[in-house]
Amino acid sequence: MGKKKKKRTPEELYWCYYCDRVFKDEGTLILHQKAKHFRCPACTKKLNTAQGLQVHCDQVHKINVERVPAAKPDRDSMDREIFGMAGVPEGMKPGGVFGFVGVPWKSCGTLWRC
Ligand SMILES: [Zn+2]
Ligand SMILES: [Zn+2]
Repeated sequence: MGKKKKKRTPEELYWCYYCDRVFKDEGTLILHQKAKHFRCPACTKKLNTAQGLQVHCDQVHKINVERVPAAKPDRDSMDREIFGMAGVPEGMKPGGVFGFVGVPWKSCGTLWRC
């Protein structure tokens, strides 16, 4: 009782805020973010967030990471805390620059590079 499940409509997408890639589930998305955007360039350790990566690089390697690795130029801010779909601005959709309007993901997992 009292535990409300967040409704997710079937059309709702899991996508990477940093690079606009679309995934079939959030677990895959999180794995992608860790491997692609939260991975230490110096020792390949995978962190959970961009902030975690920043702290790790600073403390372990004395590297100042100012931008999220492999992120689009306007999405590479370290200030925004992204984890899976958490932290993505409400109503934001992937692929705005490509004119993407919400076609369901295909079996290959990506929308526009099949
Ligand atoms: Zn990505
Ligand atoms: Zn490292």
